[in-house]
Amino acid sequence: MEERAYLDHAATTPMLAAAREAWLAQSEQCGNPSSLHTSGRRRRRVVEEARESIAAALNVRPSAVVFTAGGTESDNLAIKGLYWARRTDARRRILASAVEHHAVLDPLAWLEAEQGAVVDWIQVDRLGRIDLDSLTQALQRSDDVALVTVMWANNEVGTVQPVVEVAQVCRDAGVPFHTDAVQALGHVPVDLGALGAEAVTISSHKIGGPFGVGALIADPRQPITPVLHGGGQEREIRSGTLDAPAIAAFAVAVDHAVHGQQARAEHLIALREALVRGIRAEVPSAIINGDLGTGPDERLPGNVHATFPGCEGDLLLMLLDAAGIDCSTGSACTAGVPEPSHVLLAMGADPALARSSIRFSMGEGTRVEDIERVIAALPAVVDRAQRAGSLAPQAG
Ligand code: PLP
Repeated sequence: MEERAYLDHAATTPMLAAAREAWLAQSEQCGNPSSLHTSGRRRRRVVEEARESIAAALNVRPSAVVFTAGGTESDNLAIKGLYWARRTDARRRILASAVEHHAVLDPLAWLEAEQGAVVDWIQVDRLGRIDLDSLTQALQRSDDVALVTVMWANNEVGTVQPVVEVAQVCRDAGVPFHTDAVQALGHVPVDLGALGAEAVTISSHKIGGPFGVGALIADPRQPITPVLHGGGQEREIRSGTLDAPAIAAFAVAVDHAVHGQQARAEHLIALREALVRGIRAEVPSAIINGDLGTGPDERLPGNVHATFPGCEGDLLLMLLDAAGIDCSTGSACTAGVPEPSHVLLAMGADPALARSSIRFSMGEGTRVEDIERVIAALPAVVDRAQRAGSLAPQAG
């Protein structure tokens, strides 16, 4: 198979060998963790040991860990479940950052369209960071706020949000706080005991575990209305037979994510700086988006997000793909028309420039050669994309 530079770790990252082994070992066993016989109880032990291991790594009690099928489900459960549990005629407001992932944005839009919610968007600055003062002000009148949701780190531009401060502001106001930590876990220090949020979303396949499993770390004192009804598993919040092999492998990945974080961050920051230097040297017109600080409160270590004026992001992606490089654009396609990313627009970007952007996201296995490959390919790729752009019919 052709060797490629895989720079899309924020989309998904390879499964760790140790996680695969844990999955394989469990896949050879039989038994439903809810069954009362010996095989069922054995399976239950695997699940509970995984729960304890994840809880210890994240510094929460095991009872806080609610297994789900991944980040999207956890976000839906947190947003809908907290809203339904707290909604009254007088309490229908939700405060959310303007740069959330669609797994949060779309449930919010649905709650507004169908369930009487009113979403107040907390705006971000040019780096993509929320305005804490606006949030504090919006919470001064907190009786009508059902929940606050602000992601820990942004999946497109890598900006890290001041979640510790947000959690404190929410605590002071007596309003539950949910944060989507899907991109943060494994890349910045994540101590959920110190954070004290009511609900935190994590996902396995973003940290070297298998697809289709994740968790909502949900404070047992905070009522959450279930989205899925059925057998009453997971504190009756999330029904469905537990996937013991996936959960065992997920626990291995969480442990690795938390305990290897510091060393990984140093490796990734060095690669990130090399890539930023290379982009600037080879394509001086490029704009690097987001916060360029190297601290864990500033930017995800493995994220580089760049705008190449005059180029369509989708074309850049295809040309880089042809050069053996996997990366991603932030734009979504609506009816075949590329839409500028809501994240870049919220950061004040011009819509045309927002469509000219590419995300490179690095992971543990990323090598210096991968970065060199991008830097070597970029001048010709950008030149071709710019020439194609200047030939395209202008909107009139
Ligand atoms: N939240 C964020 C910030 C993400 O980046 C993603 C995936 O891209 C998700 C949620 C969805 O997670 P999953 O793929 O596990 O459903």
